[in-house]
Amino acid sequence: MTVTIPDATALDAADALAPMRDRFVAAEDEGIVYLDGNSLGRPPRAVADRLAQFVSEDWGTRLIRGWDEGWFASPLAVGDRIADAVLGAAPGQTIVADSTTVSLYKLIRAALAARPDRSRIVIDRANFPTDRYVVQGIAAETGAQIDWIDPDPATGVSVDDVHAVLGPDTAVVVLSHIAYRSGYIADIPRITAAAHAAGALVVWDLCHSVGAVPLELDAWGVDYATGCTYKYLNGGPGSPAFLYVRAEHIGSAVQPIQGWMGVRDSFLMGPDYEPAAGIRRFVSGTPPVLAMVPLTVSLELIGEVGIQAIREKSVALTEYAIALFDEILAPLGVTLSSPRDPAVRGGHITIDHPAFPALIAPLWERGVIPDFRPPTGIRLGMSPLSTSFAEVRRAIVAIAEELTAATSRSDR
Ligand SMILES: *Cc1c(COP(=O)(O)O)cnc(C)c1O
Repeated sequence: MTVTIPDATALDAADALAPMRDRFVAAEDEGIVYLDGNSLGRPPRAVADRLAQFVSEDWGTRLIRGWDEGWFASPLAVGDRIADAVLGAAPGQTIVADSTTVSLYKLIRAALAARPDRSRIVIDRANFPTDRYVVQGIAAETGAQIDWIDPDPATGVSVDDVHAVLGPDTAVVVLSHIAYRSGYIADIPRITAAAHAAGALVVWDLCHSVGAVPLELDAWGVDYATGCTYKYLNGGPGSPAFLYVRAEHIGSAVQPIQGWMGVRDSFLMGPDYEPAAGIRRFVSGTPPVLAMVPLTVSLELIGEVGIQAIREKSVALTEYAIALFDEILAPLGVTLSSPRDPAVRGGHITIDHPAFPALIAPLWERGVIPDFRPPTGIRLGMSPLSTSFAEVRRAIVAIAEELTAATSRSDR
């Protein structure tokens, strides 16, 4: 196959972030092409030592004393580090505690409690399943009504889409910053302002943006936000989500899972729930201290280069993928289901073809690992710290080869 656009070797040689690949386990192993760092980031190399050190020193020697020496404070301490590195948020508004799903539940319930005279929740049908399911569950439980947005599938939720459904009874708008399928970047500042003008609050799901695009939660006026740490933040399978509540809301916030780890004095063992004054009130039970260890390593890596440099590489990777798509996949009938304008495109793209459902198995077999999104999408996630331009090229060429083989088989 001849490809005329620039070879990946030159792009990798000129890439200031290229040396970061060696900081991840096996990223330099040319056997695997990994384009699913937006579902599960690679482990940083230093994680193994840091975990071993935690077991032998912190857990092993400090034992129960560890809770006084830092573990109890860890949901807030690690939250502040995420806030500083990638959220554009001042300290004291972010914790790390539960999954994104549970965090969404807490935040949406808190938003409804903050608007007791309103009962409508806005969400879009292209949102990630768990966001929709949580909203449906809350509606069934509280009697709230849902206003569904049907966004353009090739892009995502626009400011106009939100305007069209906002009303005097809207309590909260629940949206994803970056659409998990198309990669479209929603306009957080303008949508948040529109919701506020209607008297509503916003909950933003940042799973596909945190660690890939710069965020300014404080400056954008965001009320509540949450997101995964196992995607572009490389926290490892099941690493806990972060949860952000704007400072002005915290003192009066009511969250639905009242637990002993979120009260004014946990070790008083008092008779009644008395929420902590600060963001700690959003913690429910014992925080997943062990599961935060890898995250501290990857936050150090991100801190070394900064989120702006990460975004620049991310744009370069998706631009390169689209240039390759145009040259070798579009002629085979593959369509691009992501925005062409990098200003509204996150760190992944999705391409569609009716033959793709059968293509994932042979691709994975040859060590090319994107993921599949129904009905016919292959999603190419390019994690800026650990993905090379050569990987992107090999993936697109492999998809073209497998597609050509599949179509010639079905022609026979
Ligand atoms: C990955 C993802 C989730 C996952 O939620 P979990 O509770 O961690 O399983 C939620 N929302 C979005 C938009 C995602 O991309």
